[in-house]
Amino acid sequence: MYDVVIVGAGPVGLFLACELGLAGCSVQVLEMEPEPDSRWQAQPLDKRGLFGFSTGAFYRRGLLDALRETSAGMTGHGAPVVAGADGTSGPPAVGHFAGVMLDPAKVDLAALPYRLPSPAPDSLMIRLPEVEALLAERAVKLGVEIQRGAPVDAVVQHDEHVVVSAGADAVEARWVVGCDGGRSAVRRLAGIEFTGTEPEFTGYVMVATLAGPEKLHPGMHATPTGLYLRMGVDGALGMMDFDGGAFDRSRQPTRDHLQTVLRRVSGTDVTLTDVQQVSTFTDRAKQATTYRKGRILLAGDAAHIHSPLGGQGLNTGIGDAMNLGWKLAATVRGHAPDGLLDTYDEERRPVGAQVLDWSRAQVAVMRPDRGTWAARGVFRDLLETRDGTTYVFEKMSGSSMRYDLGDAHPLVGRNAPDFLLEDGTSLGKLMRDGLGVVLDFTAERRLAGPAAAWRDRVRYAAGTPVDGLGLEAVLVRPDGTVAWAQGGDAGAGFEEAASRWFGRPTA
Ligand SMILES: Cc1cc2nc3c(=O)[nH]c(=O)nc-3n(C[C@H](O)[C@H](O)[C@H](O)COP(=O)(O)OP(=O)(O)OC[C@H]3O[C@@H](n4cnc5c(N)ncnc54)[C@H](O)[C@@H]3O)c2cc1C
Repeated sequence: MYDVVIVGAGPVGLFLACELGLAGCSVQVLEMEPEPDSRWQAQPLDKRGLFGFSTGAFYRRGLLDALRETSAGMTGHGAPVVAGADGTSGPPAVGHFAGVMLDPAKVDLAALPYRLPSPAPDSLMIRLPEVEALLAERAVKLGVEIQRGAPVDAVVQHDEHVVVSAGADAVEARWVVGCDGGRSAVRRLAGIEFTGTEPEFTGYVMVATLAGPEKLHPGMHATPTGLYLRMGVDGALGMMDFDGGAFDRSRQPTRDHLQTVLRRVSGTDVTLTDVQQVSTFTDRAKQATTYRKGRILLAGDAAHIHSPLGGQGLNTGIGDAMNLGWKLAATVRGHAPDGLLDTYDEERRPVGAQVLDWSRAQVAVMRPDRGTWAARGVFRDLLETRDGTTYVFEKMSGSSMRYDLGDAHPLVGRNAPDFLLEDGTSLGKLMRDGLGVVLDFTAERRLAGPAAAWRDRVRYAAGTPVDGLGLEAVLVRPDGTVAWAQGGDAGAGFEEAASRWFGRPTA
C-alpha cells in the first residue's frame, strides 16, 4: 500500500509528488496520458507566467536555476521575464488587468510590506512541458513512481485506505489526491460539488498565418466587442469573444469560424490564410465546495477553475501543493498535530475563491456593452496610477496574500521574506529539505534551547540578519508561511506556535 496516490501528472500533481517524496512518503502518480508530452501542442501555446510566490517555491526547493532554464531561448511576448526583487533586472512584470496593460515602472515596491531582496524573480515565463519534465525527473529521484497510461475511473474510500482503479488495475493508498485538472474524475467520484458561475466568453489561442498582419496591432487590445492579442512570437494570436461561452470545446474551430471571430473582436477585415494550432478556453469559474472528503483531497485545477486572465491558475495550484505537501506528509508519518490536515482546506479554499473573483472582476469590466465600456474607462484611469498599478501587482504576485492565523504579529500568515544572515545563509536555502525553519536573530541565541525540541521537524539557524525587519526571531512553516514572529521579548509564545504546526516536542 502506498502512503499517497496522486491522480494526474500535471504541474500540480508533480509538484506535490516532489513535496511528499522529499518528506519520505511512498507515492504513486497515476496519469492517463501515455506519454509525457502527449497532451501538449507545440510551442507557443504551452507558455505560462509564474509569479513570485511560485518562483519562490522552486527557489526554496533548490530548483530555481533549473526553472530559469525552462524559459531559456524564448523570444518576443514569451521572453523570459526575470525581474524585480533581486534588484538586478529592472522592475517586475505586472502584465494587465482586464486587458489594460500596466506599466511595471509604476509598481511602488517600497510600498509593499515585509519585502526583502530574493533570487526568486517576481515573474518568469516558463514552458509547461519543460517544467513538468523537470518535476517528473525530481520526483523519480525522490522515489516517486509515475505510472502513465492509467486513466483513473474508480475511487473507493474505506476506513483506513482508498482503492484507486484505472481499468483493470487497482492500487491501494492511505490517501488520494486528485490533481487531475478541471474535469477531475476524482472530484466527481468522491461526490464533491463544483459550484460557481457559467462562462460569458470563449477564448482562443492559436498559431496562424495572416494576410496583412499589420491590420492587427502587436500586444493586447481590449475592444468594445472583446479582446485580441498579437504576441511577439511568430503567428501567435489570442482572442476573447463574448458569446456566452457558447463555442463547444469538444469542437475543433474551423479557419472560417476563427476568422469571423477575429474580425468581430478586432474590428478589422483581417484574413486568416492558415491556422496551424488552436486551443480554446472559457471564463467558467468554479470551485470545489470542499478540498477534502475523508481520505480524498483535491489540488490545482481539480479544486478551482477560472479564466486564464491574469495567469493565476498554475500559481494557485503550486500554492495548493506547497500548502498540502508537508501537512499530508506529517499526517502520514504520524507527527501531525490534531487538525493540521484540515487547515489545508481552511487556508487554500479562501485563496481559491479570491482568485475566482479576481478573474470575474476582469470579465465584468470587459463586457461588450456601452455602460461597461464607460465604467472601464474610469477603471483604466485608476489602474494606471501608481497606487492602482501597485494594487494589481500586489494581488497578482500574491504578495498581499495572508492566511488567517491570528493577529499575534502582522507578518504571521504571510509568505516569509527571504531573510539573509550576514554569513550568507538565506532562509530560502535553509528550506531545501522541506523542514520548518526557525531563525534566531538574538545575540544570546535565545531560541536555541526551545527549538531543539523540534529538531527533527524544524531547522534552527542563528545569526545577525542583513535586514531583520525589526524582528528578533521568526518561525517559518515548510511551505514558507510565517507561523510565528517576535519583535521584542523573543521566545514568548514560540513553543505554542511550534506545537500548533509541528506537533509535540521530542521528549
Ligand atoms: C491559455 C491558457 C493560459 C494560461 N496561462 C497561465 C499563466 O500564465 N499562469 C498560470 O498560473 N496559469 C495559467 N493557465 C492555467 C494553468 O495552465 C492551469 O491552471 C494548470 O495547468 C493546472 O495544472 P494542474 O496540474 O492542476 O492540472 P492540469 O495541467 O490540467 O493537469 C491534470 C493532469 O491530470 C491528468 N488526468 C486528467 N484526468 C485523469 C484521470 N482520470 N486519470 C489520470 N490522469 C488524469 C491529465 O492528463 C493531466 O496530465 C493558463 C491556462 C490556459 C488555458
